[in-house]
Amino acid sequence: MPRPISLTISVSALRHNLDVVRGRLARVSAERNVPCPKVWAVIKANAYGHGIENAVQALGMADGLAMLDLDEAVRTREAGWKGPILLLEGFFEPADIAVVDAYRLTPVLHCHEQLDMLEKSRLARPVDAYIKVNTGMNRLGFMPADVAHAYDRALALRRDERLASIGKMSHFSCADDNAEVTRREQQRFLDTTHGLPGPVSLCNSAATLSDSVWSALDAGLEQWVRPGICLYGASPFPDRSAASLGLKPVQTLSARLLAVRELPAGQPIGYGHTFTTRGVTRTGIVACGYADGYPRLTAPDTPVTVDGVPSRLLGRVSMDMMVVDITSVPGARPGSTVVLWGEGGPDIDDVAKGARTIGYELMCSVTPRVPRRVVSAS
Ligand SMILES: *Cc1c(COP(=O)(O)O)cnc(C)c1O
Repeated sequence: MPRPISLTISVSALRHNLDVVRGRLARVSAERNVPCPKVWAVIKANAYGHGIENAVQALGMADGLAMLDLDEAVRTREAGWKGPILLLEGFFEPADIAVVDAYRLTPVLHCHEQLDMLEKSRLARPVDAYIKVNTGMNRLGFMPADVAHAYDRALALRRDERLASIGKMSHFSCADDNAEVTRREQQRFLDTTHGLPGPVSLCNSAATLSDSVWSALDAGLEQWVRPGICLYGASPFPDRSAASLGLKPVQTLSARLLAVRELPAGQPIGYGHTFTTRGVTRTGIVACGYADGYPRLTAPDTPVTVDGVPSRLLGRVSMDMMVVDITSVPGARPGSTVVLWGEGGPDIDDVAKGARTIGYELMCSVTPRVPRRVVSAS
């Protein structure tokens, strides 16, 4: 038997969250009389740890799927996805262009070296692409002053039938917590790309769920949003819960108690004795540790649930185990279920706060040794 720990992936919760996003886009675009954006559902990093194949199964109603690893793009096609596939970082070397061609991928072009590679390539048929504009993140993308030149080079590639449609995209740096910076980045994008035809793609989850961002674009533009994190049931915002946005958790990390003990006051717990009991305390030893992806430095008092009852972490997380407080769960015994995050347990964003990170990182950190269980009804 494997250790008593598992990661449950709910395909129906993933489908539900896409419905929430699409429903919101449809409603707000109708209210404001602007065209409804299409959706690139972002499934990079193995669908934020949920499995590419599960994502393909759940996200059939998306207009396109976006990622950045070519192997994942190939897996997406092999899982039966027939729609467009956006490569968020484009291709990395000339040999990748054959994969782009064979699997009908849509690369983002963010630097002149990629345009050089395309100019030297042979393609069976022209590919769709996006030109990426650096509007302030200062990671990938052409500087605003260079965009017209890059777009001209892309037009030349279209004339010799290497490119088909040419879109324009950028990525916001602060859409989760700074509307003013987002507004400036959006304006910089619009000024830079004004008059260049083609679809536009700007909005991550935070900007997609901030209706004022995407609905402010000129009604004449074909717009695609790029939500990721919200599809997996975590909030992109530091101050709004996923539940308040109507989202359901897609992944649930749960384990069982291996042992229980009763300690008198004054007993230290775990490595380094970072926690000492104040009164008589019942503790449960959980079959989950940092080698499963639960961060070692998660703060004491971070929430867990034991047999459905809210409880808390005690002391330092070790490699294969952690200790939780079961003083208020008198029925807890070896074999009791502990939910570390997800359905029936704490919100992944609250656990992330205890670990001084974000839900994104927890989701994609669950290690391969944790058995996956895929369920269809949430
Ligand atoms: C990851 C990513 C997204 C999705 O971001 P979320 O915050 O998860 O919604 C969108 N666009 C790009 C370019 C990305 O890298």
